[in-house]
Amino acid sequence: MHKGKIIKGIAGFYYVHVAGSGVYECRARGIFRKDDVKPLVGDDVMIEVLDERDKEGNLVEILPRTSTLIRPASANVDQALILFAFRSPNPNLRLLDRFLIAMEMAGVPSLIVFNKLDKAEEGAEETIREAYGNCGCPLHMISVKKGQGLDELREHLRGRTTVLAGPSGVGKSSLTNALQSDVAMETGEISKKLKRGRNTTRHAQIVPLDDTSFLMDTPGFTAFDLAGLKKEELRLYYPEFAPHNDKCYYAGCAHLGEPDCAVKLALGLGEIPQIRYDNYAAIYSELYEAEKRRYQ
Ligand code: GDP
Ligand code: ZN
Repeated sequence: MHKGKIIKGIAGFYYVHVAGSGVYECRARGIFRKDDVKPLVGDDVMIEVLDERDKEGNLVEILPRTSTLIRPASANVDQALILFAFRSPNPNLRLLDRFLIAMEMAGVPSLIVFNKLDKAEEGAEETIREAYGNCGCPLHMISVKKGQGLDELREHLRGRTTVLAGPSGVGKSSLTNALQSDVAMETGEISKKLKRGRNTTRHAQIVPLDDTSFLMDTPGFTAFDLAGLKKEELRLYYPEFAPHNDKCYYAGCAHLGEPDCAVKLALGLGEIPQIRYDNYAAIYSELYEAEKRRYQ
Protein backbone atom coordinates (compact mmCIF):
# COMPACT_ATOMS: atom_id res chain seq x y z
CA MET A 1 0.00 0.00 0.00
CA HIS A 2 1.16 3.52 -0.86
CA LYS A 3 -0.14 6.89 0.17
CA GLY A 4 -0.52 9.43 -2.61
CA LYS A 5 -2.53 12.29 -4.04
CA ILE A 6 -4.93 12.24 -6.98
CA ILE A 7 -3.55 14.71 -9.47
CA LYS A 8 -5.96 13.99 -12.30
CA GLY A 9 -9.05 11.97 -13.10
CA ILE A 10 -10.15 11.00 -16.58
CA ALA A 11 -12.88 8.57 -17.56
CA GLY A 12 -12.70 6.27 -14.58
CA PHE A 13 -8.93 6.48 -14.22
CA TYR A 14 -7.25 8.33 -11.40
CA TYR A 15 -3.63 9.40 -11.59
CA VAL A 16 -2.05 9.20 -8.18
CA HIS A 17 1.23 10.92 -7.32
CA VAL A 18 3.26 9.00 -4.76
CA ALA A 19 6.17 10.97 -3.33
CA GLY A 20 9.46 9.43 -4.37
CA SER A 21 8.05 6.84 -6.73
CA GLY A 22 6.05 8.60 -9.40
CA VAL A 23 2.51 8.52 -10.71
CA TYR A 24 0.26 5.47 -10.80
CA GLU A 25 -2.69 4.97 -13.06
CA CYS A 26 -5.46 3.66 -10.83
CA ARG A 27 -9.01 2.49 -11.02
CA ALA A 28 -11.40 3.01 -8.15
CA ARG A 29 -12.74 -0.19 -6.71
CA GLY A 30 -16.47 -0.61 -6.13
CA ILE A 31 -16.37 0.55 -2.54
CA PHE A 32 -16.51 4.21 -3.51
CA ARG A 33 -19.58 3.82 -5.64
CA LYS A 34 -21.25 1.91 -2.86
CA ASP A 35 -20.50 4.65 -0.36
CA ASP A 36 -21.50 7.28 -2.89
CA VAL A 37 -18.14 9.01 -2.54
CA LYS A 38 -16.55 10.16 -5.73
CA PRO A 39 -12.77 10.54 -5.63
CA LEU A 40 -11.75 14.13 -6.37
CA VAL A 41 -8.62 15.72 -7.70
CA GLY A 42 -6.64 16.66 -4.60
CA ASP A 43 -7.79 13.68 -2.57
CA ASP A 44 -5.15 11.99 -0.46
CA VAL A 45 -5.60 8.28 -1.02
CA MET A 46 -4.22 4.85 -0.31
CA ILE A 47 -3.46 2.74 -3.34
CA GLU A 48 -2.49 -0.85 -3.83
CA VAL A 49 0.07 -1.34 -6.57
CA LEU A 50 -0.86 -3.93 -9.21
CA ASP A 51 2.10 -3.44 -11.49
CA GLU A 52 5.17 -1.53 -10.37
CA ARG A 53 6.82 -1.41 -13.79
CA ASP A 54 3.75 -0.11 -15.62
CA LYS A 55 2.76 1.96 -12.61
CA GLU A 56 -0.75 0.64 -12.29
CA GLY A 57 -2.82 0.29 -9.16
CA ASN A 58 -6.15 0.36 -7.37
CA LEU A 59 -7.56 3.15 -5.26
CA VAL A 60 -8.53 1.52 -2.02
CA GLU A 61 -9.22 4.36 0.36
CA ILE A 62 -9.87 8.08 0.36
CA LEU A 63 -8.30 9.72 3.40
CA PRO A 64 -10.32 12.34 5.28
CA ARG A 65 -10.65 15.63 3.42
CA THR A 66 -9.74 18.96 4.95
CA SER A 67 -11.93 20.82 2.44
CA THR A 68 -13.86 20.46 -0.79
CA LEU A 69 -14.38 22.99 -3.55
CA ILE A 70 -17.32 22.72 -5.90
CA ARG A 71 -15.79 24.67 -8.71
CA PRO A 72 -13.32 23.36 -9.67
CA ALA A 73 -14.39 20.06 -8.09
CA SER A 74 -11.46 19.31 -5.85
CA ALA A 75 -10.43 18.30 -2.36
CA ASN A 76 -7.88 19.56 0.16
CA VAL A 77 -7.16 22.89 -1.48
CA ASP A 78 -5.24 24.99 1.05
CA GLN A 79 -5.09 28.32 -0.73
CA ALA A 80 -5.63 30.14 -4.00
CA LEU A 81 -2.98 31.91 -6.03
CA ILE A 82 -4.72 34.68 -7.91
CA LEU A 83 -2.55 35.72 -10.79
CA PHE A 84 -2.80 38.98 -12.69
CA ALA A 85 -0.29 40.82 -14.87
CA PHE A 86 0.90 44.43 -14.69
CA ARG A 87 0.40 44.63 -18.46
CA SER A 88 -0.63 42.52 -21.46
CA PRO A 89 -3.31 42.06 -20.37
CA ASN A 90 -3.88 45.10 -18.17
CA PRO A 91 -5.29 44.06 -14.81
CA ASN A 92 -9.02 44.22 -14.29
CA LEU A 93 -9.00 45.05 -10.59
CA ARG A 94 -12.71 44.65 -10.16
CA LEU A 95 -12.30 41.08 -11.38
CA LEU A 96 -9.48 40.63 -8.88
CA ASP A 97 -11.82 41.71 -6.08
CA ARG A 98 -14.45 39.27 -7.31
CA PHE A 99 -11.87 36.46 -7.18
CA LEU A 100 -10.93 37.46 -3.63
CA ILE A 101 -14.55 37.57 -2.52
CA ALA A 102 -15.43 34.24 -4.17
CA MET A 103 -12.45 32.55 -2.55
CA GLU A 104 -13.27 33.95 0.85
CA MET A 105 -16.87 32.77 0.44
CA ALA A 106 -15.48 29.31 -0.27
CA GLY A 107 -13.26 29.53 2.81
CA VAL A 108 -10.04 29.48 0.79
CA PRO A 109 -7.32 32.00 1.71
CA SER A 110 -5.88 33.90 -1.26
CA LEU A 111 -2.45 34.92 -2.33
CA ILE A 112 -2.35 37.81 -4.81
CA VAL A 113 0.41 37.68 -7.40
CA PHE A 114 1.15 40.31 -10.05
CA ASN A 115 3.29 39.03 -12.89
CA LYS A 116 5.22 40.72 -15.71
CA LEU A 117 6.97 43.11 -13.37
CA ASP A 118 9.46 43.59 -16.20
CA LYS A 119 6.70 45.29 -18.19
CA ALA A 120 5.22 47.37 -15.36
CA GLU A 121 4.85 51.05 -16.10
CA GLU A 122 6.41 53.67 -13.86
CA GLY A 123 4.42 53.82 -10.63
CA ALA A 124 2.30 50.73 -11.28
CA GLU A 125 3.98 48.75 -8.56
CA GLU A 126 3.25 51.50 -6.04
CA THR A 127 -0.39 51.76 -7.15
CA ILE A 128 -0.95 48.04 -6.65
CA ARG A 129 0.83 48.04 -3.32
CA GLU A 130 -1.31 50.92 -2.08
CA ALA A 131 -4.52 49.26 -3.26
CA TYR A 132 -3.87 45.71 -2.06
CA GLY A 133 -1.21 46.04 0.64
CA ASN A 134 -3.92 46.09 3.31
CA CYS A 135 -6.54 43.76 1.92
CA GLY A 136 -5.66 40.87 4.19
CA CYS A 137 -3.90 38.75 1.55
CA PRO A 138 -0.18 38.40 0.91
CA LEU A 139 0.90 40.28 -2.20
CA HIS A 140 3.74 39.20 -4.49
CA MET A 141 5.16 40.94 -7.52
CA ILE A 142 7.08 38.76 -9.87
CA SER A 143 8.44 38.38 -13.34
CA VAL A 144 8.37 34.80 -14.53
CA LYS A 145 10.36 35.87 -17.54
CA LYS A 146 13.17 37.39 -15.47
CA GLY A 147 12.89 34.89 -12.64
CA GLN A 148 12.14 37.72 -10.19
CA GLY A 149 10.31 37.00 -6.93
CA LEU A 150 9.93 33.30 -7.56
CA ASP A 151 11.90 32.12 -4.52
CA GLU A 152 9.69 34.07 -2.10
CA LEU A 153 6.62 32.79 -3.86
CA ARG A 154 7.88 29.22 -3.66
CA GLU A 155 8.14 29.60 0.12
CA HIS A 156 4.47 30.45 0.21
CA LEU A 157 3.52 27.37 -1.76
CA ARG A 158 5.65 24.88 0.13
CA GLY A 159 3.78 22.00 1.69
CA ARG A 160 0.42 23.20 0.39
CA THR A 161 -2.03 22.52 -2.39
CA THR A 162 -2.68 25.77 -4.20
CA VAL A 163 -5.34 26.42 -6.79
CA LEU A 164 -4.12 28.75 -9.53
CA ALA A 165 -6.65 31.20 -10.95
CA GLY A 166 -6.49 34.22 -13.20
CA PRO A 167 -7.47 35.57 -16.60
CA SER A 168 -5.84 34.14 -19.69
CA GLY A 169 -2.54 35.57 -20.83
CA VAL A 170 -1.29 36.59 -17.38
CA GLY A 171 1.30 33.80 -17.27
CA LYS A 172 -0.35 30.87 -15.52
CA SER A 173 1.31 28.19 -17.65
CA SER A 174 4.63 30.03 -17.64
CA LEU A 175 4.52 30.23 -13.85
CA THR A 176 3.54 26.59 -13.47
CA ASN A 177 6.48 25.54 -15.63
CA ALA A 178 8.88 27.84 -13.81
CA LEU A 179 7.88 26.47 -10.41
CA GLN A 180 8.21 22.81 -11.24
CA SER A 181 11.33 21.32 -9.77
CA ASP A 182 13.50 19.02 -11.84
CA VAL A 183 12.36 16.16 -9.67
CA ALA A 184 8.76 16.80 -10.57
CA MET A 185 9.65 17.17 -14.24
CA GLU A 186 11.51 13.88 -14.22
CA THR A 187 8.35 12.03 -13.34
CA GLY A 188 8.51 11.36 -17.04
CA GLU A 189 6.31 8.37 -17.63
CA ILE A 190 3.36 10.19 -16.17
CA SER A 191 3.49 12.93 -18.74
CA LYS A 192 3.08 10.35 -21.43
CA LYS A 193 0.10 8.82 -19.70
CA LEU A 194 -1.48 12.16 -18.97
CA LYS A 195 -1.11 13.33 -22.53
CA ARG A 196 -3.53 10.63 -23.56
CA GLY A 197 -6.23 12.44 -21.67
CA ARG A 198 -5.40 15.93 -22.84
CA ASN A 199 -7.90 17.97 -24.73
CA THR A 200 -10.76 15.96 -23.33
CA THR A 201 -12.94 17.70 -20.81
CA ARG A 202 -11.58 20.73 -19.06
CA HIS A 203 -10.93 19.18 -15.68
CA ALA A 204 -8.86 20.38 -12.82
CA GLN A 205 -5.39 18.90 -12.82
CA ILE A 206 -2.66 19.04 -10.24
CA VAL A 207 1.00 19.62 -11.00
CA PRO A 208 3.39 18.38 -8.30
CA LEU A 209 6.00 21.09 -7.63
CA ASP A 210 7.90 18.88 -5.22
CA ASP A 211 6.94 16.04 -2.92
CA THR A 212 4.72 18.17 -0.69
CA SER A 213 3.71 21.14 -2.82
CA PHE A 214 1.03 20.99 -5.47
CA LEU A 215 -0.39 23.49 -7.92
CA MET A 216 -3.87 22.97 -9.28
CA ASP A 217 -4.27 24.19 -12.76
CA THR A 218 -7.89 24.84 -13.61
CA PRO A 219 -8.71 25.60 -17.22
CA GLY A 220 -11.75 27.78 -17.55
CA PHE A 221 -11.49 28.85 -13.94
CA THR A 222 -11.34 32.49 -14.82
CA ALA A 223 -14.54 34.14 -13.64
CA PHE A 224 -16.92 33.81 -10.77
CA ASP A 225 -20.43 34.67 -10.04
CA LEU A 226 -20.98 35.81 -6.53
CA ALA A 227 -24.29 33.98 -6.29
CA GLY A 228 -25.54 33.88 -2.75
CA LEU A 229 -23.79 37.07 -1.71
CA LYS A 230 -26.13 39.74 -0.33
CA LYS A 231 -25.19 43.32 -1.10
CA GLU A 232 -25.46 44.11 2.64
CA GLU A 233 -22.74 41.54 3.34
CA LEU A 234 -20.32 42.82 0.71
CA ARG A 235 -18.70 45.31 3.11
CA LEU A 236 -17.55 42.40 5.28
CA TYR A 237 -15.26 41.28 2.45
CA TYR A 238 -13.32 44.56 2.65
CA PRO A 239 -11.12 44.30 5.74
CA GLU A 240 -10.01 47.91 5.17
CA PHE A 241 -13.54 48.99 6.14
CA ALA A 242 -13.56 46.97 9.36
CA PRO A 243 -12.33 49.67 11.76
CA HIS A 244 -14.98 52.06 10.39
CA ASN A 245 -18.05 49.91 9.68
CA ASP A 246 -19.54 50.46 13.13
CA LYS A 247 -18.88 54.18 13.30
CA CYS A 248 -21.29 55.29 10.59
CA TYR A 249 -24.47 57.16 11.54
CA TYR A 250 -26.64 54.40 10.11
CA ALA A 251 -26.03 50.92 11.51
CA GLY A 252 -26.54 49.28 8.13
CA CYS A 253 -24.66 51.97 6.22
CA ALA A 254 -23.65 50.86 2.74
CA HIS A 255 -21.04 53.64 2.58
CA LEU A 256 -22.44 54.94 -0.68
CA GLY A 257 -23.32 58.50 0.21
CA GLU A 258 -25.28 58.21 3.44
CA PRO A 259 -24.72 61.10 5.87
CA ASP A 260 -21.99 60.79 8.49
CA CYS A 261 -20.36 57.79 6.90
CA ALA A 262 -17.12 56.79 8.62
CA VAL A 263 -15.92 54.81 5.61
CA LYS A 264 -16.32 57.79 3.28
CA LEU A 265 -14.51 59.91 5.84
CA ALA A 266 -11.63 57.42 6.00
CA LEU A 267 -11.58 57.31 2.21
CA GLY A 268 -11.24 61.09 2.11
CA LEU A 269 -8.35 60.89 4.57
CA GLY A 270 -6.61 58.33 2.40
CA GLU A 271 -6.98 55.56 4.98
CA ILE A 272 -8.94 53.38 2.58
CA PRO A 273 -7.58 52.88 -0.94
CA GLN A 274 -9.70 54.55 -3.61
CA ILE A 275 -9.37 51.55 -5.93
CA ARG A 276 -10.78 49.18 -3.34
CA TYR A 277 -13.62 51.55 -2.53
CA ASP A 278 -14.49 51.98 -6.22
CA ASN A 279 -14.51 48.20 -6.70
CA TYR A 280 -16.75 47.86 -3.67
CA ALA A 281 -19.21 50.42 -5.03
CA ALA A 282 -19.24 48.80 -8.48
CA ILE A 283 -19.75 45.28 -7.16
CA TYR A 284 -22.42 46.58 -4.78
CA SER A 285 -24.40 47.98 -7.67
CA GLU A 286 -23.99 44.72 -9.63
CA LEU A 287 -25.43 42.83 -6.66
CA TYR A 288 -28.22 45.40 -6.39
CA GLU A 289 -29.12 45.01 -10.07
CA ALA A 290 -29.04 41.22 -9.79
CA GLU A 291 -31.39 41.35 -6.79
CA LYS A 292 -33.77 43.66 -8.63
CA ARG A 293 -33.91 41.28 -11.59
CA ARG A 294 -34.62 38.39 -9.28
CA TYR A 295 -37.63 40.11 -7.73
CA GLN A 296 -39.13 41.41 -10.94
P1 GDP B 1 -1.74 31.91 -19.36
O1 GDP B 1 -2.75 32.12 -20.43
O2 GDP B 1 -2.17 32.60 -18.09
O3 GDP B 1 -1.35 30.49 -19.12
O4 GDP B 1 -0.42 32.72 -19.82
P2 GDP B 1 0.93 32.14 -20.50
O5 GDP B 1 1.78 31.46 -19.49
O6 GDP B 1 0.57 31.40 -21.73
O7 GDP B 1 1.65 33.52 -20.86
C1 GDP B 1 1.10 34.45 -21.78
C2 GDP B 1 2.22 35.25 -22.41
O8 GDP B 1 2.88 36.05 -21.43
C3 GDP B 1 3.32 34.37 -23.01
O9 GDP B 1 3.72 34.94 -24.23
C4 GDP B 1 4.45 34.43 -21.99
O10 GDP B 1 5.70 34.25 -22.57
C5 GDP B 1 4.28 35.84 -21.47
N1 GDP B 1 4.81 36.01 -20.12
C6 GDP B 1 4.66 35.19 -19.05
N2 GDP B 1 5.31 35.69 -17.97
C7 GDP B 1 5.88 36.85 -18.36
C8 GDP B 1 6.69 37.84 -17.68
O11 GDP B 1 7.03 37.77 -16.49
N3 GDP B 1 7.06 38.93 -18.43
C9 GDP B 1 6.72 39.07 -19.73
N4 GDP B 1 7.14 40.16 -20.37
N5 GDP B 1 5.98 38.15 -20.40
C10 GDP B 1 5.57 37.06 -19.73
ZN1 ZN C 1 -20.84 54.22 6.00
